[in-house]
Amino acid sequence: MEITTHFFFNLSLLIIVLFFSLVVARKLNYTTVPKFGALCCVMFMLFICMQLSYKPHPEFHYDLRIIPIAIAGLYIGIGPIVALLAIILRGFYGLDEGFLLHTVLFTVFGLITWFHYSSFWKLPASKRINYSILSTIIFSLISLLVIELTITVENRFDLWFAYLIIPALGVGMIAYTIEFVLHNADIQKKVILTEKMEAVEQMGAAISHEIRNPLTAAMGFVHLMKEPAISPKKRMEYLSIVKEELESAERVIQNYLTFSKPSLGYIEEIPVKTELLKVINILKPSANQNSVEITTNFAILGSIEGDRQKFHQCFLNVIKNSIESMPRGGHINIYTHYTKTHIIIEIEDTGVGMSQEQIQRLGEPYYSTKGSKGTGLGMMVVFSIVKAMKGMIKVESEINLGTTFTFTFPTYNHSSKNERF
Ligand code: ADP
Ligand code: MG
Repeated sequence: MEITTHFFFNLSLLIIVLFFSLVVARKLNYTTVPKFGALCCVMFMLFICMQLSYKPHPEFHYDLRIIPIAIAGLYIGIGPIVALLAIILRGFYGLDEGFLLHTVLFTVFGLITWFHYSSFWKLPASKRINYSILSTIIFSLISLLVIELTITVENRFDLWFAYLIIPALGVGMIAYTIEFVLHNADIQKKVILTEKMEAVEQMGAAISHEIRNPLTAAMGFVHLMKEPAISPKKRMEYLSIVKEELESAERVIQNYLTFSKPSLGYIEEIPVKTELLKVINILKPSANQNSVEITTNFAILGSIEGDRQKFHQCFLNVIKNSIESMPRGGHINIYTHYTKTHIIIEIEDTGVGMSQEQIQRLGEPYYSTKGSKGTGLGMMVVFSIVKAMKGMIKVESEINLGTTFTFTFPTYNHSSKNERF
């Protein structure tokens, strides 16, 4: 059992090397392992095999070099190179009869794998595994016959078992792992593609629904305004409806653009109080219409760093949601305070609130509970803007009691310069 035990130990080390190579490849996010990396891994495996070779006879080294050669030859197409390296490494142990035999065997095997490389990749995955195992068994059989013809073997059963079973087992396990990883990478690619297609489909549907509707409405009113008999008062009324409809279409486009390009534009200092007041002013008419009272409690100081326009868009979306959550009126309290490193902005409403499940789904594209009135894009954009501005969002809500959004942003650093992303 000596050779078998030895080979099993050697095989375990090869599997450990394979495991760590896979971990590294995954960390570096390689979908197809570059040949150089694979060559390094194979080299290391060869080195381990040589270090752990078993020497029952002064001229013969029994080892598992065939495993890296078979894998590198069939899967990467560098069989002759690895065979040459294996021969060179073997040369360091002496240029004896064993060296000569191995040179012939490895050269032939390396060249065979090289010739079969392209046809090997045309096979389906399961056949590739079988092919690898079968070619290793054939090679092991030839090696065994050569050994039998050249030296007197003592532990025959042990030698045949170790040489026939363990290399084939090792090659089979490694080939299976490679196929498994390739299959996973393939599935991942397909999932990404499907997601992209879905996004395009949803985008198309959203554009046709959310932008066409206001545009059609605006067009209708423009037609009405063409009537010469129309009174100036009616004309003004129609004009303001057209303006509103166009603004709503513009907002949808703006939200899409922000989401598809979340990086910030011009980075500048944003004085939180001043900018929030501007946002509140924009929303005042709509708050009044809904009988919503907005109160503020701002810290005097406090600036953050970011894109002013996106900051407006973010808080417009949040406060607009708060107003919309109180169809029968209510109260919004906007509160800011600061620590040495962060600015905290709290927006508290007394609206319908959200369940835990609703909170979880916030920011999901097209998630809206407002039926045809909602787009489900507002919060998605809020999350992407806050992320781009290195901020954090906390949501606390209770059904029928209200919701509090807490935003935390890093304080503006006066030493940082303006830069364009
Ligand atoms: P939309 O406003 O078009 O529905 P949003 O992405 O802005 O889309 O919001 C998604 C959903 O999150 C809303 O439909 C609503 O159910 C919920 N929501 C967001 N803010 C609040 C809030 N302050 N109070 C209650 N529900 C909210
Ligand atoms: Mg909204």
